[in-house]
Amino acid sequence: MLLGPPGSGKGTQAGRIAAQRGWLHLSTGDLFRAHLKDRTPLGQLARSYIDRGELVPDTVTVDMVRQRIREVPAARRVIFDGFPRTVPQAEALDTLLGELGRDLAGVVLLEVPRAELVDRIAGRVTCPNCQAVYNLATNRPRRPGVCDRCGGPVSQRTDETPEVVEHRLHVYEEETEPLVDLYRKRGALRAVDGTGTLEAVGGRVAGAFAQP
Ligand code: AMP
Repeated sequence: MLLGPPGSGKGTQAGRIAAQRGWLHLSTGDLFRAHLKDRTPLGQLARSYIDRGELVPDTVTVDMVRQRIREVPAARRVIFDGFPRTVPQAEALDTLLGELGRDLAGVVLLEVPRAELVDRIAGRVTCPNCQAVYNLATNRPRRPGVCDRCGGPVSQRTDETPEVVEHRLHVYEEETEPLVDLYRKRGALRAVDGTGTLEAVGGRVAGAFAQP
C-alpha cells in the first residue's frame, strides 16, 4: 500500500513500481474517474464528492474495491494507491484480505512538506484518457499539452483548483492521517522522503518495498 497526502506522488510511484514488478496498480481515484468518464451511476454519485474535494462514502468505496479485487488472480500482487483513506476503510480492507486469504505485505508512506504539495498540485496536469500524470515544472509531457503515453490532450483535474486542493489536504489530515499511526503500531509502516526527482523517490520507494 502506498499512503500519502494529495500531491505526494502516490499515483506516479505506484504506477512505476507496478510496471517494474508486474503488480496490479489499484487506484480508487482512477477507478472513480473511469466511472465518471463512462457516466455510470457510480460515476455520477462519485462526482458530487470528488468535485468538492470530499471523500466518497466508505460503503460505496469499499464495495467498488471488493468488486475489483475479486477479479484479480490470487497470485497477482496488488499495490493500493489512495485506498484506504479512512479508519473504517482500513478495517474493511483487513476483512476483505482475510476473506481472500491475502496478507498486507507493507505500507509505504510518502512524506512531502505541505507547502510543496500545494505547489506540485498547482503544476499538475493529467490525461483524462489514460490517467498519466505530469508536472509542468518537473515532468512535462514531451509535446506541450499532449499525453506521451496515449497522445490524448492533457488538462488540469476539476478537483485541483486552489480551494478544492486546500480542502483535500484538510480532509487528508482529518480522515487519512490516523492511518499512519494505525499501521505504524502494527509495525507495517515505512516512511520515505517523497521530495526530489521522480527517480530518486522511486529508488526509495522500491527500497522500502524490498525490505522484509
Ligand atoms: P485521488 O486520485 O486519489 O486523489 O482521488 C481523487 C478523489 O477521489 C478524492 O478526492 C476522493 O473524492 C475520491 N476518492 C479516491 N479514493 C477514495 C477513497 N479511498 N475513499 C473515498 N474517496 C476516494
